[in-house]
Amino acid sequence: MAAANEFLNIVGLINESKKILVIGHIMPDGDDISSVLSLCLGLEKLGKEVVCAIDWKIPSYFYEIPEVSLIKSYEEVKEYKPDLVVIVDASSPDRVGRFSEMLEKYRVIVIDHHATNVYFGNYNWVDPTFAATAQMILRLNEELGIKYDERLSHLNLMGIETDTGFFRYSNADEKVFKDAAKLISYGAKPDQIARMILENKKVEQFKLLSRMIEKLRIDCNGLLAYSYLTQKDYKDFNCTEEDSGGFVSELRSLKGIEVAVFLSEYVEGEVHVSFRSKEWFDVNKIAVILGGGGHQRAAGTTLKGNIEEIVEEVIKVTKSLLESETK
Ligand code: 5GP
Ligand code: MN
Repeated sequence: MAAANEFLNIVGLINESKKILVIGHIMPDGDDISSVLSLCLGLEKLGKEVVCAIDWKIPSYFYEIPEVSLIKSYEEVKEYKPDLVVIVDASSPDRVGRFSEMLEKYRVIVIDHHATNVYFGNYNWVDPTFAATAQMILRLNEELGIKYDERLSHLNLMGIETDTGFFRYSNADEKVFKDAAKLISYGAKPDQIARMILENKKVEQFKLLSRMIEKLRIDCNGLLAYSYLTQKDYKDFNCTEEDSGGFVSELRSLKGIEVAVFLSEYVEGEVHVSFRSKEWFDVNKIAVILGGGGHQRAAGTTLKGNIEEIVEEVIKVTKSLLESETK
């Protein structure tokens, strides 16, 4: 169905629902948390009973945002019986963790900007022309007649800022700057968001970064940079996987590199793989082959097994695709 029709269907469904559950994705990022909270606060302004939840630990640096305490765990809401479920920023059922059980039981709306979305809701508003799902929430809230105050604007801007790499990536288009300007005019503070996420590092994270740099490999005639961290690496510096957020961008920042791959053994035997590209290579293609998804310049997947074997397999697939496009 055309996106415009689906948008109006969603507006109608929200208007007629009283109890709404808003769900984000596992391994939540700034866009996801922003989208969950902006929709939650917006719907509360409409007088709805709203519960929001994510089936994953929220990275601790987001706790500077007081509203983050509104986000509940799966255990806290599994007995809740909403009229409507809205899933944001998730492209497939596996991305919502145990909340995927709710797909059978309730009417589900999916709002997402990933081109790899599998349309797993009853209603799916999917539009990859948006750099951030948070921009879609802004449009939805406006259509619902929600008035933006300073806090809502600030929370809504966070997703736009983080998913565009603080307005640096190729997805930072005119629409992004217009939406950001609007939210800033309502009181959002882009510098506060940037400081919270970029300038809030622990010394241990620097040490962890140095371990990642020790393991750095360059391949494909200087086009590919990759590295990985095992559970032991994290433990050596008293760190967890959330402390390596942004490491993949460090790899991509190297001169001449087109593709960066960072693998993180976030729990024993489970590896999250992050892919980034700079200008022309579609990393989403690699992620999809390996069972994941994302965007052309940022994609990921999660694999189970021995980390060294996974590194070998992921790099083999990456190299063969990259080499086939550079011949
Ligand atoms: P990141 O590397 O920051 O975890 O993710 C980059 C992009 O890839 C995000 O847009 C995210 O939604 C997507 N992504 C990351 N991990 C997975 C995954 O395991 N499965 C899918 N389908 N997409 C992922
Ligand atoms: Mn997003």
